[in-house]
Amino acid sequence: MSRLPIAIVSAMHDELRALLPLLRDPQPVRLAGRDFHQGTVHGQPVVLVLSGIGKVAATTTAALLLHEFQATELVFTGVAGGLRRGVKVGDVVVAEQLLQHDMDASPLFPRFEVPLTGRSRFDVHAGLADALAAASQRCIDDAAALIGSAHLLSFAIETPLVHRGLVVSGDRFVPSVAASDALRQVLPDALAVEMEGAAVAQVCADFGRPFAVLRTISDRADDSAHVDFTRFIDEVASVYTRAIVEDWLQHRVRA
Ligand code: SAH
Repeated sequence: MSRLPIAIVSAMHDELRALLPLLRDPQPVRLAGRDFHQGTVHGQPVVLVLSGIGKVAATTTAALLLHEFQATELVFTGVAGGLRRGVKVGDVVVAEQLLQHDMDASPLFPRFEVPLTGRSRFDVHAGLADALAAASQRCIDDAAALIGSAHLLSFAIETPLVHRGLVVSGDRFVPSVAASDALRQVLPDALAVEMEGAAVAQVCADFGRPFAVLRTISDRADDSAHVDFTRFIDEVASVYTRAIVEDWLQHRVRA
């Protein structure tokens, strides 16, 4: 087994806090204002870190993980706003492709294309995404057991689903129906919007390393997107993330 670590990156502090107890023999390393927590989970070398919010924070974090820590693969976890119909609060989205919705160098390059790469959509590693989607499905199949029926009720979560497809990222919290309608119009196949994934995708493509993005839907990117946001991360998203990451790593060991 390779002793080089798998990187697991959290956008939010509560999520990292939920993952840290999984780590055996933690060895924190501080670099560029970040604490990189090295250790093992179920015998596998892992490095956990908080990226912070937005594309630049995510880019710095990903580049350090791949270059300084020689991470063999990277999984980004966090929450996102649901865009496509049927992508509801409490669902999980495992990205298949990522795109920067605020990239626009037109008319020099087509809208959304990252200049000089010829690409607007970056593919995740299919095997990694498959494994995370399978772990997500196992975990949310019994969401009531996972987070408690009182929490399901308070966020009106009925039957959570796992979705796979396009996730879009930009340096903007999408806080209104008007803003999410505008995104749906130009990117009708986008399942969800967040602020980091596509940046990580570009860095991992540059390094040629596998990556995946796992997001719990915290809001519908509408006028109430900010309501209960912190409580949702604490009571639902961080519980999902911890369970899914643990299930995924446990199954990897057996595989
Ligand atoms: N209030 C939070 C800030 C959240 S920023 C705090 O104080 O920490 C939003 C975070 O959740 C980002 O990491 C982003 O990736 C994700 N996100 C969730 N819903 C989103 C939405 N509607 N638009 C954009 N990003 C969203």
